[in-house]
Amino acid sequence: MRAFLARLQKNPPKKLDQLTVKVEQEVWQEVNCMTCANCCKSMTPTYKLKDMQRISAHLGMTVREFKNKWLYQEKGTGYWLNRRNPCQFLEPETNMCSIYEVRPVDCAGFPHFSRKKMVEFMHVHKQNVEFCPATYRMVEKMMEKFKATVHSK
Ligand code: SF4
Ligand code: SF4
Repeated sequence: MRAFLARLQKNPPKKLDQLTVKVEQEVWQEVNCMTCANCCKSMTPTYKLKDMQRISAHLGMTVREFKNKWLYQEKGTGYWLNRRNPCQFLEPETNMCSIYEVRPVDCAGFPHFSRKKMVEFMHVHKQNVEFCPATYRMVEKMMEKFKATVHSK
């Protein structure tokens, strides 16, 4: 699947972005995030300053308190990420996000199918295909539509 995505990235077909919108609609008719929540269990969002301001205000904390309690800054990138995995805001019994209305923009856009040009998120899809059933299904559908061959090991 990653090799297929790499080929798409190198030689994107003309209508790739239009097709992605259509495929995304099909995927969400088949995949239910509420039975999964694997992104919240196995990955971390990247928190932008506005996310931290909005969420900490919602929780009645200062941004500094919020960072100290839940986040760390990654060396090299400077990104603010969750310390805990699964995410501290995931309610494990229901797979609900306890800060859904104010969740990070990164979470709201995940898995980033048609928010931007698909080739700009190809590196993300290559990574997520391993963790996200919706991404896996999106790539499967793309392969079907482009009649790509899936080689077994
Ligand atoms: S990993 Fe993918 S399918 Fe699972 S909850 Fe997250 S976005 Fe939905
Ligand atoms: S903030 Fe909410 S949506 Fe984002 S990873 Fe945590 S539980 Fe999931």
